[in-house]
Amino acid sequence: MTQETNDLLEFTEEDPTASLASSQRWNILIVDDEPDVHAVTKLALKSMQIEGRELAFFHAFSAAEAMTILEDGHDFAVALVDVVMEQENSGLELVHHIRDILGNHAIRVILRTGQPGYAPEIDTLRQYDINDYKTKTELTQVRLFSAITIAIRSYAQIRQLESARRGLGLILTAATELGKPTGLNRFASGIVTQLCALLEIGEEGLVCAAEASCSAASVLAAAGSYSDWIGLPLKDIPEPHIRDSLELTLQTRQNSFGSGACLFFPGARERVMAAYVDVPRLLDEGELGLLRIFCSNISVAYENLQLYETIKDLAYVDTLVKLPNRNAFLTSIDSHQSEQNTVALVDLDGFSDINSILDDSFGDLVLQAVAQRLRGVFSDKTCVSRISSDLFGLHGPTEDVTPERISSIFSVPFAIGNGEPLRLSATSGLVLLHASDRLTSAVEIMKNAGAALKQAKRTQRGKSIRYQADLADAARDRMHLLSRLRTAFSTNRLQLHYQPLVNLRDGRIVGAECLLRWMTEDGSFVPPDRIIPLAEQSGLMVPIGEWVLRTALKWRASLKDRVEETFRVAINVSHAQFCEPDFVPMLMDALTGSGLAGHHIELELTESVAVENLDMIADKLSALRSRDISVAMDDFGTGYSSLGILQRLHLNRVKIDRSFVSGPLPEVEPYGIAKTIVVLAKQLRLKTTAEGIETEGQRQMLLETGCEEGQGYLFSRPVDENAFLQFLEQDGGKSQG
Ligand code: C2E
Ligand code: MG
Ligand code: MG
Repeated sequence: MTQETNDLLEFTEEDPTASLASSQRWNILIVDDEPDVHAVTKLALKSMQIEGRELAFFHAFSAAEAMTILEDGHDFAVALVDVVMEQENSGLELVHHIRDILGNHAIRVILRTGQPGYAPEIDTLRQYDINDYKTKTELTQVRLFSAITIAIRSYAQIRQLESARRGLGLILTAATELGKPTGLNRFASGIVTQLCALLEIGEEGLVCAAEASCSAASVLAAAGSYSDWIGLPLKDIPEPHIRDSLELTLQTRQNSFGSGACLFFPGARERVMAAYVDVPRLLDEGELGLLRIFCSNISVAYENLQLYETIKDLAYVDTLVKLPNRNAFLTSIDSHQSEQNTVALVDLDGFSDINSILDDSFGDLVLQAVAQRLRGVFSDKTCVSRISSDLFGLHGPTEDVTPERISSIFSVPFAIGNGEPLRLSATSGLVLLHASDRLTSAVEIMKNAGAALKQAKRTQRGKSIRYQADLADAARDRMHLLSRLRTAFSTNRLQLHYQPLVNLRDGRIVGAECLLRWMTEDGSFVPPDRIIPLAEQSGLMVPIGEWVLRTALKWRASLKDRVEETFRVAINVSHAQFCEPDFVPMLMDALTGSGLAGHHIELELTESVAVENLDMIADKLSALRSRDISVAMDDFGTGYSSLGILQRLHLNRVKIDRSFVSGPLPEVEPYGIAKTIVVLAKQLRLKTTAEGIETEGQRQMLLETGCEEGQGYLFSRPVDENAFLQFLEQDGGKSQG
C-alpha cells in the first residue's frame, strides 16, 4: 500500500487534477513481480483519459499483496495480472480469488505472461471471465491502450447494469414497503428514505403534499437538516432554490432537476406530492431512468394509500356530519388506558318529529348543526362522534365531558338554513371510566351509558343522568321480570280479579272492574303497576290486553242469569293497546263472539291516551259509540286532560282518582277537588265513579256531592271469580235488583 501512497504523491506533482477523488478516476491494479513491468505500464498509460476520466494506478508485486489491496474494497476497473509470480499459477489463483472468493464480477482482468507456454486453457479464460490474454511482448503501448480502453468500457457497462439492477430492486422494495397502509406522514418520510437509498446519498430531503394546485401545499415529511420544516407551508420554506423547484414541480406536474432532484407524484382524489432531495452530483441517464421508474411505482403506491384512506374514512367517518362514527367511537373507548375519562351518549329530544313534520333534508341540516356545535365546544382531547341517527357519542377527559357543557350546547337556538331559530334539547347518559375499567369492553361501556340515557329519557328528558351500577341492576331486574312475565302469559298463569262497582245510594252492585293479576310460583302477586309498564315497553301489552278483554267478556257472558241485564264489566285499556290500528276490529270481533251487547262493557282509558293524537282517538271512540260501548276516563285528575277534552271526545264517564277520595287529604276543604270534579262533570253530562272509597264517611260525602257510583275496599277488594260469585250471592237481593 505504500506504493499506492507514493504513486498518488507522484500524481500530485505531475498533474493538478490528481486531487480528484479516486471515484472520479478509473482505478487500475497492476500485479507483477517485475518492478520494470510496473514502471513501463504506467509510463505507457500515464496521460491516458477514458470517457473523460483519468487513470489511477495501484501496484502489487505478488498475488498475495494484490489480494490484500483488493480486500481493502477499492473500486478497481481493471487488473493487469502476471500469470507466473511467486508460483507458476499465482495469477490464475488470484483471478479465482477475485471471482469466486471476493465475488467481484465487475473488475476486468487482463492476463499477461512472459512465456507463451504458460497460456491458460481457453475454458479457464471463459470460466474466470478474463478479458484478454497477452504475452508481455505483445503489449505494445498502442495495444495496451486499446486493451485497457475496451476493458474499462466493458467495466463501466457492467457497473451500470449492476446499479440499474440494484436500483430496480430498491424500487421494488420501496414500492412494497410504501405500499403498506401506514398513513400519509410515514409514507412521505418513507419516500425520502427510499429515494436517498436509490441515489446512494445521505438522507437530506423533504416531501410536500398539496390539493391539485400548489397553493395550499405544506411540508409533510423532512429528513436531515430539513427536519425542522415539517408542517411548514410551502411558501414559507426559507431556501428559495428548494421552494422554487418544489413549486415548479407541483405546477408543471413534472420532475425537475437543479441543485437537487425534485420528483412529482400524482395521486388519486386530486392530491399530489413532490419530493426534493439534495443530489451533490449530476445524475446520469441511467439514474434519471431509474427515477422515472421510481416515480411511477411510488405514484401507484400513493394512489393505493389514498384509496385505503378513503376506505378507512368510509369505515370510520360518518359521511353526513363528518364526525367519527360508531366504529371509531368504540376504538376511542378501547384505547382508554389509565386516565380518568367520561363517555356520554347524547340523544336529541323529539328528533323524529322534526324529521316527520319538516323533512329529512331539514333533519340532516339539524344533525350537521348539532355536530358542528358539539365539535366546537369540546377540546381536541374529546372524541366527538355520531353513533346513529340522532345519537351522538362523547369520549374524553372527565373535566371536559360534563352535563353542564352538554346542556350549554342546547341553551342557544340553532339557525338552520334561513328558517326560524330552532330550539333543541337533548338527553344524555354518562359513564365515568376509571383505570380499573380498562378491561371492560367498549361495547359494555356503551351499554351502560345507554342504560343511563334510557333512564334519563324516562324520568328527566332534557337532562343528564350518570350511570350507576344499581341502574344497571334495575335494568337487569326488569329484563328478568319481563322474561318471567312472558312465560307466565304463555302458560296461562295470568288471571283477572274483579272489584264490584257499587251504587252509592242503595249499595247495589252495578258492575265490576276487571283487574289483572299475576300469581308467581311462590303464590305471591306481582302488582299490575309493575306488570303494565313493563308489558307496554316490550310490546307484550297488546296480546295481554286482548286476553284480558276476551276473558272479561267470557266472564260477563257466564254471569248472564246471575246479574242484572245492565251489569257492566269495566275493562282497562292501556295506551299502547288503544293505539294499535287493529284495536277496534279486534274488540268488535270479541264482542260479537261473546254474544254480549255493547252496553255490557265499559272501557277505561287513562289520561295519557287523551293528550296525543286527538283525531285518531276521536275516530276510534266514535266507532265504539256506534256499538253502544261506553268509555270512562280513569284516574281523572292525575294527568293533564281537561274536562273540556272529555266532553269533546264524547266520553261517558269520569273516574275520580282515589288520591282525591282516600289519599292524604288537605286540612282546608278536604274533599274539595273530588267535589269540584263531580260538579263540573254533572254540568258536562258526564257520569262519575269514585275510586278508593274505604270508609262510610267517604261514601256519605260523595253521595252528598252528587256522585252516583263508587268502588273501594269499603265494599270489596278485587277478588277472584269464585269469591265474586259468593259476594254476588250474599248481596243477592241487591244485585238482582
Ligand atoms: P285502576 O284502573 O285505577 O284500578 C283501580 C286500582 O285501585 C286497583 O289497583 C285496585 O285494587 C285499587 N283499589 C280499589 N279500591 C281501592 C281502595 O279502596 N283503596 C286503595 N288504596 N286501592 C283501591 P290494582 O289492581 O293494583 O291496579 C292498578 C292499576 O293497574 C289499575 O288502576 C289499572 O290502571 C292498571 N290495570 C289493572 N289491570 C289492568 C288491565 O287488565 N289492563 C290495563 N291496561 N291496566 C290494568
Ligand atoms: Mg281502572
Ligand atoms: Mg283508577
